[in-house]
Amino acid sequence: MDVSHILDPLNDAQREAVTAAMGTRLVLAGAGSGKTRVLVHRIAWLIQVENVPPWSLLAVTFTNKAAREMRTRIEEMLGHPVGGMWVGTFHGLTHRFLRAHWQDAGLPQHFQILDGDDQFRLIKRILKALELDESNWPPRQVQSFINKQKDEGLRPDHVDAAGDRYLTQMVAVYREYEAARTRGGLLDFADLLLCAHELLRERADILHHYRERFRHVLVDEFQDTNAIQYAWLRLLVGPNDNLFAVGDDDQSIYGWRGARVENIQSLQRHFPGSQVVRLEQNYRSTGTILKAANALIARNPGRLGKNLWTADGEGEPIRRYAAFNEVDEARFVVERIRKYSTEEGYRRAECAILYRTTAQSRLFEEALMNAQVPFRVYGGLRFFERAEVRDALAYLRLLNNPDDDGAFERVINTPTRGIGERTLDLLRERARGSAVSLWQAAQDLIAAGALGPRGTATLVHFVDLIRNAQAATRDLDLAETATHVIEAAALADFYMKAKDGKGEDRVENLGQFVETAGRFRQEVEDDEADPLGAFLSHAALEAGEAQADPFSDAVQLMTLHSAKGLEFPNVFLVGLEEGLFPHSMSAQDPARLEEERRLCYVGMTRAMHRLYVTHAESRRLYGKESYPQPSRFLREVPPELMEEVRGRGVSRPAAARAPVPAAAGVMGGGDTGGFHLGQRVTHPKFGEGVVLNSEGRGAQARIQVNFQGVGSKWLVLAYARLEPAG
Ligand code: ATP
Ligand code: MG
Repeated sequence: MDVSHILDPLNDAQREAVTAAMGTRLVLAGAGSGKTRVLVHRIAWLIQVENVPPWSLLAVTFTNKAAREMRTRIEEMLGHPVGGMWVGTFHGLTHRFLRAHWQDAGLPQHFQILDGDDQFRLIKRILKALELDESNWPPRQVQSFINKQKDEGLRPDHVDAAGDRYLTQMVAVYREYEAARTRGGLLDFADLLLCAHELLRERADILHHYRERFRHVLVDEFQDTNAIQYAWLRLLVGPNDNLFAVGDDDQSIYGWRGARVENIQSLQRHFPGSQVVRLEQNYRSTGTILKAANALIARNPGRLGKNLWTADGEGEPIRRYAAFNEVDEARFVVERIRKYSTEEGYRRAECAILYRTTAQSRLFEEALMNAQVPFRVYGGLRFFERAEVRDALAYLRLLNNPDDDGAFERVINTPTRGIGERTLDLLRERARGSAVSLWQAAQDLIAAGALGPRGTATLVHFVDLIRNAQAATRDLDLAETATHVIEAAALADFYMKAKDGKGEDRVENLGQFVETAGRFRQEVEDDEADPLGAFLSHAALEAGEAQADPFSDAVQLMTLHSAKGLEFPNVFLVGLEEGLFPHSMSAQDPARLEEERRLCYVGMTRAMHRLYVTHAESRRLYGKESYPQPSRFLREVPPELMEEVRGRGVSRPAAARAPVPAAAGVMGGGDTGGFHLGQRVTHPKFGEGVVLNSEGRGAQARIQVNFQGVGSKWLVLAYARLEPAG
């Protein structure tokens, strides 16, 4: 049998992992060492050489996109399509499992997914109903409390509040939330795993079936599994099954969402006889990029430790750009990208801009738009999250399941129907009082004549709208159904009349939504009976990944978190400033600071040929102006690996002004003439400013000050006539 196509593109260590005998295998290796490649080749090996039927394979990846790529790669290698294999994210796979077992799990057949935004709204409604003040009970905090419990596998009954008043109240909200969610036939993201886990735990017959079926379970990015995901895996992988997990403790970046890097160690305990394979050769990045990333991550204590090397050359130095402000930063990055795509023939998609927080993307989007460079934002305001798309989706959800309270609340007054707050409050009270959905409450109130004539009329109108649309779309396909409700509800008119100037965009998005519905192909055979339900789940699960046309050549914009597992020839890591990255919320806590450093490591190791790191000397963010210090991560990269790019493209070695680590507040590499970094100073001509940096000594000493009026300037200290301000 010819297996050269599976084994030739691998090095010895990778080959060993791919051809390993059955049993539990853990591939523990650094970024770009071929973990994902090994996983894909392992699957091809199992199917072709070990004659494992695809039916008995289950592979977990980090995004739906990665899952699709994985399947394509395997099919290419084998030369034929492989059906029956389950490849997807934890959410996608458990969703599929629950769809198949809705009855066993005690779920309504058409259960829908409650995404983050809907969850947030639902929590707000519950706080209101319980008369809890949002300033004492911030909905975001409640939301993360609930999700955290679920990620740990805890239902309200399992949380031990033990006389703690705060906890007791939180649990009460959690309980109320669960009741509302259940009434609406909704599952939130954490529920997908929680319910799937409970079902496997409680039903020996189902557990047995799946253990028999999935003889091979493979997991990518294992370091980021949380408690409930790991518990689900542990159940699913029976004593006769084979687990193949790949991961990197240095890339664990979801601790804040409950991911437990300790699972890597636990795995070796829970699966006796498991063997660890290490890969050390990196195939992605240049020697320089790798050295920088290695040096950075070496600052973290308690690592499992590994050393990455590459057979490739050193490549170009890492380029560091100190932008005057955030606008200049965006301008610089876009200019470079244009240069690489027009002069060097890189595709735009080979350039990525990576940032710490989504709020940073807007300026880059603007700069790209002005320069007429196509781009694609991942994880920003995703297509399925836009207000108009969510409105249209909410109508579809109501058609699918009128008891969906989230959808009901969303569209009862969109477009405006003159249903007053009072009527709505009555509805909510009724729903809560008799533990029914808002939809049911509406029928009850109408029947009881409990509303005034106007209230009744408007409500009847709404109920009829939904009922009629249900009847009218029974035999229509998805795109036709979408078109029908959008027209019946007169959504386009509503957006065009709104005075936010976005009417046309919104209507265009509605058009795109109809098209998406038309193109939608169900990936899951079990869902065939219910295309609308499948589409709605798809929308909920896909939100958060791509937007727009995935085939056009566009610059890639995303947060560092969503860049995991990806690679790009040119990477721009932006906003490397104290307070932004590392994030201010993490700077005080050593564990979180280490996670930020891992995030920076993930970002740097995405780069294949070129890495840019940028920071701004002044930044306006969330409406506030600040003069941030350059990120400590910049200092943790050996200066000889970096080259400073000055404005208008003049380069000089960064080493000359590389700040040395020193006592807090004093980070300049040179003589500061008694001023300290961050100090406010005044200059007779330039006015007031903040000391940002220094270099050189004695007569050569220069100091960099960011002046409020004229921006950042380097001044020769001896002549600068600077005074401390105030
Ligand atoms: P990450 O930790 O970032 O997820 P990874 O360990 O999963 O990285 P891969 O994405 O599998 O690494 O591989 C990194 C790059 O190196 C890919 O472009 C891959 O095709 C290439 N690569 C991996 N192994 C080899 C090899 N033996 N020969 C040539 N190229 C390889
Ligand atoms: Mg990978």
